[in-house]
Amino acid sequence: MSTDFSIHQLGHPLLRQTALPVTDIDDPAFQQQLDALLAFVMDKGGMGIAAPQVGISQRFFILSSHPNARYPYAPAVPPFAVINPEILAHSDTSTKDWEGCLSLPGLRGLVPRYDWIEVRYQTRAGETVETRYEAFLARVFQHELDHINGHVFIDRVESTQELMMEQEWQHQIGHQRIPGSSTD
Ligand code: ZN
Repeated sequence: MSTDFSIHQLGHPLLRQTALPVTDIDDPAFQQQLDALLAFVMDKGGMGIAAPQVGISQRFFILSSHPNARYPYAPAVPPFAVINPEILAHSDTSTKDWEGCLSLPGLRGLVPRYDWIEVRYQTRAGETVETRYEAFLARVFQHELDHINGHVFIDRVESTQELMMEQEWQHQIGHQRIPGSSTD
């Protein structure tokens, strides 16, 4: 299966649209898209990707997790599909951490995210799941959910002083970390 997606970059109008709900999860064409995106995330060892980043303006994304420097206790979760997600409740508190994005290559930003979220979504089998994520998975979930609402991480950065180019970030911060400390 081809996992050679072209990733839309910031400026592409699809990244700024509110994506539409997925109405037919059983549709074979939709299931094939999921397979391809799951393989893509697996290939890249990434943490996730949202449908609008690959030109699909629908409300789903791929999420995964593995332990990393900032979240050494992050669960090891192979990539899975999150369809028609919503946040039901969230912590009062937020934490800032560095994020990056395939749609904004070369840029890093300190992004505040809720520490925990309670969410509802559908699986690729069409089942409705309600669960709670915290720490790293909560961060990636919020990053990807933003994509299907037309937002990107720089919209959440509190100051342009908290943006860094990748090369400087690697030099000052990233070298202290193991890979996987950022999101998609
Ligand atoms: Zn992203």
